[in-house]
Amino acid sequence: MKEAMLYEVVDKDTLKCNVCNHYCIIKNGLRGICGVRENIDGVLYSLNYGKTIARAIDPIEKKPIFHFLPGSKTYSLATVGCNLSCSWCQNWDISQEPKNGNKIIGKDISPEEHIKSALNHKCKSISYTYSEPTIFLEYAYDIMLLAKEMGLKNIWVTNGFMSKETLDVILPLTDAMNVDLKGFDDKICNKYCGGAIKPVLENLVTIYKAGIHLEITTLIVPAVNDEIKQIEEIADFIKNLDPNIPWHITRFYPGYKMINNNPTPIEILYKAREIGFNKGLKRIHIGNI
Ligand code: SF4
Repeated sequence: MKEAMLYEVVDKDTLKCNVCNHYCIIKNGLRGICGVRENIDGVLYSLNYGKTIARAIDPIEKKPIFHFLPGSKTYSLATVGCNLSCSWCQNWDISQEPKNGNKIIGKDISPEEHIKSALNHKCKSISYTYSEPTIFLEYAYDIMLLAKEMGLKNIWVTNGFMSKETLDVILPLTDAMNVDLKGFDDKICNKYCGGAIKPVLENLVTIYKAGIHLEITTLIVPAVNDEIKQIEEIADFIKNLDPNIPWHITRFYPGYKMINNNPTPIEILYKAREIGFNKGLKRIHIGNI
């Protein structure tokens, strides 16, 4: 573990974490919502620092990133934990694992070892992915600094719920991002994911204005975000930001708390694509089919 970045002291027993939009107030001996930041005697620690739970060499298109270094390999890594709790999460076994005070699991791998391995495998980039990179900010940051030194690109695959403070830290080191835009309805986002949409929309504008290569993904989940109005609102938002931003419309498969739900009917994905093109978007990709 390592002392966390971006926190402040509220009083002798209480800290405030400024890493994501939950801005957790954390009493001594307790963790934040993500389960990986703990107040230990007045110091906030990132418990998952250096604890890699997953790593792999992926085609960059798997992130999905289709319009940045196409055809290249990306070195992907994650720790346990997430600041959201989406009912359909495909990686719930690692994203939700540290909640309820569970032990932080993962293999000890230094930032230097990750960079060496990425270079040995002829990867062009490092992707912070699988779980949510925001909650392993300190680990990602150290790897990002080294990656830059060695000429590797940095890619965040994220739910976009990080704080403005975190964006200030990472944007100068980030080359590309894929941000999940899960819907356009705060109530639904709160009910199914424990988050909110407004901060994600604001962050998307900030990321775009920073000149980072940006792609957006929307997983279409039946009876959650598959109504026409919501799809139109998402498409409008992207169009107003920049109609050239690639939009990935992906198919839901049963998992986690939605193990008994049916996969998204393929016609809905094609309908969403048609809506996007009619709104003026230029690059739409259907995924997971
Ligand atoms: S990263 Fe987010 S969820 Fe985790 S402790 Fe900080 S504010 Fe809370």
